[in-house]
Amino acid sequence: MKFETYTEQVLQYHEELCKIVAMSVVPPEIHKINNQVEQLNALLKWFKNDFFTWTNRPNCLRCGTNNNLQELGHVHPNNEDREYGASRVEGYKCLDCRIITRFPRYNSAVKLFETRTGRCGEWANAFTALCVAMGYAARLVLDWTDHVWTEVYIEEWQRWVHCDSCEPLFDKPLTYEKGWGKQLTYIVAFSNQEIVDVTRRYVIDPFMNKMRRNNVNEKWLADLVKQRREMLWDMQGPEMAAILRDRYFREEKELFGDKDEVADEDYLPRQSGSLEWRSGRGEMGKGVMDSTAGSATIKTREDVDRVMKDMHREAARAKQEEAKRAEVARPQLPERPEAELYAEA
Ligand SMILES: [Zn+2]
Repeated sequence: MKFETYTEQVLQYHEELCKIVAMSVVPPEIHKINNQVEQLNALLKWFKNDFFTWTNRPNCLRCGTNNNLQELGHVHPNNEDREYGASRVEGYKCLDCRIITRFPRYNSAVKLFETRTGRCGEWANAFTALCVAMGYAARLVLDWTDHVWTEVYIEEWQRWVHCDSCEPLFDKPLTYEKGWGKQLTYIVAFSNQEIVDVTRRYVIDPFMNKMRRNNVNEKWLADLVKQRREMLWDMQGPEMAAILRDRYFREEKELFGDKDEVADEDYLPRQSGSLEWRSGRGEMGKGVMDSTAGSATIKTREDVDRVMKDMHREAARAKQEEAKRAEVARPQLPERPEAELYAEA
């Protein structure tokens, strides 16, 4: 279950060791910046340009290139892999050297500060850990169409801000749909203090998004997220819980309010990863979109009609039930004899 995995994953950012290692890798000039917005932008730039690297396929341990690798799929994780949270290990055979190079997908932020490489999962994990270590309220954000990034709370702006360390992007939440051409479905933010469905921050058209969200019952999902969020709030103690609750209600208002119009030109196609890899994923924006983009099942007009029909049916049933409930709730007044009514007139 994804929820449990990610709720657990974000807990490591609050461990002492993780914080100490994180603080030690950040350059002193970034530590010195006082303004949160400026500091985060500097952190993103440094992270992308000087700290982390992207790995589509690892380099062969012997010849040091990845030109002639054969993908072996997942290979068995060893004890060290498991110790650093790599339950998935990719194997590659160099056809020149005939040796196998392993690429463990580490989840441990401490380990990632050492290896400093990976794909968006590793990037987002390490970057979120850095933000937490530097004292920010930060969340790991999971996009069900296969991407991960960070959200950071900016005190001055009193709101959560989108940060994608791979690109890097700061406060450009519509990039995935407008720039990459994704069709987003579910996006959930995780921290040690809460779980929030933040999809609305990232979609152009909430109605079309709703159409695509047909994996699970909406009410069931909303209840589940709410229940877990409140449980995490309660674990923070009454004082902190009150702050979190207040912050959440402001966020909810923002998510469900109207959005400011932003010009399409402001959004770029995906920058991270090789061109071949990005095109294969259909994340190069308009013109390069293919049917493999996302896991959305709504692509054609017929799909929309089908879902619309379901929605109307559901709405009609809800209305009927509502009416039935109102019927029961209405107090039944005893009928008064006609004579009495006339007497009053
Ligand atoms: Zn080789």
